[in-house]
Amino acid sequence: MVVIGEHRHTQVKIDLQAIKHNINEEMTRKDPLTELWAVVKANGYGHGIIQVAQAAKQAGATGFCVAILDEALALRAAGITEPILVLGITEPEYAPLIAEKNISVAVGSQAWLDQAAPILAANQVRTPLHVHLALDTGMGRIGFQTPAELAVAVKTLSVAGSPFDFEGIFTHFATADQADDTYFTHQLTNWKALIAVVPELPKYVHVSNSATSLWHQACNGNMIRFGVALYGLNPSGTELSAPYHLQPALSLTAELSFVKKLARGKSISYGATYTATEDEWIGTVPIGYADGYERRLQGFHVLVDGQFCEIVGRVCMDQMMVRLPHEVAVGSKVTLVGSDGDNSISLQSVADYCGTIHYEIACGLAPRLPRVYTE
Ligand SMILES: *Cc1c(COP(=O)(O)O)cnc(C)c1O
Repeated sequence: MVVIGEHRHTQVKIDLQAIKHNINEEMTRKDPLTELWAVVKANGYGHGIIQVAQAAKQAGATGFCVAILDEALALRAAGITEPILVLGITEPEYAPLIAEKNISVAVGSQAWLDQAAPILAANQVRTPLHVHLALDTGMGRIGFQTPAELAVAVKTLSVAGSPFDFEGIFTHFATADQADDTYFTHQLTNWKALIAVVPELPKYVHVSNSATSLWHQACNGNMIRFGVALYGLNPSGTELSAPYHLQPALSLTAELSFVKKLARGKSISYGATYTATEDEWIGTVPIGYADGYERRLQGFHVLVDGQFCEIVGRVCMDQMMVRLPHEVAVGSKVTLVGSDGDNSISLQSVADYCGTIHYEIACGLAPRLPRVYTE
């Protein structure tokens, strides 16, 4: 694959040591019999799927979760041999490929099993297809909702000569990251009622995303799907504090590409929304909304040589302007996420300014931003 963006100093820097630190903390905190599977969907939440998976593996992750089949295939192509679970629904037509690559998939309906079985048979697939039954206990996204439907599916999986391996059963909580646990408790009750109809539980019984493992550890089961926290981000934003220090792995930096003195009365960028009220120094930063640095960030700030500077005028597709305290050199370091000296800008603060969550900012960072890794 051609990498577009290799020759630029605007970069996403990933500290793999931070990822290992976060996983190590969780490894020592969880029950030793509970496996930690690293969630690396969406290009590892923007951090780079392969590099994150390898770091996670070194830190003790024994499996991986992704959202779509192609992400699982990318891990296999990179030589990852551990179990990989696709959390979303994969089209039944790919059942032979899934089985051949020894990938596990979430299944949320009897119809899926009924469609996949003849396709596997027609392709004379010899290896069983690993299935994790998804239970909808209140997330309302995918999965079995009633004990009756679930019982039929379990029977289908268990019948002699089935092309399936009933490998796991799981659910997903909608509010594990909130202080109020009313809805969480409601989902937990539903979960218990559903799994009560399964005569023999499969190898993996799992309910925990990062938030559940951090704040409801007792429910964990024997595997956790550890996602956002491994990147050093608090799943609750700022509502709950994590039981250990989460070390953010990602920073985003650039260099000033142009510096000029702007005379009082002159304007900046599309729409001429900003006009200098006095003579001032303006720097241009070669990043824009096409890089995932959102247009809504006008008025927010970056660090130039460690000093806070306001983003003035509209953020363009590929460039934006900042007001400098004084003349600085072209090539001066710009920190958009991360720290420089005593000052820092968190992904959380960027997300807050945009009215969204850090997950969205992280996975929105465009492929054309080169990822640079440090250990
Ligand atoms: C994305 C996802 C996770 C990981 O969630 P985090 O909040 O990032 O820990 C776990 N389980 C499912 C089903 C998911 O879709």
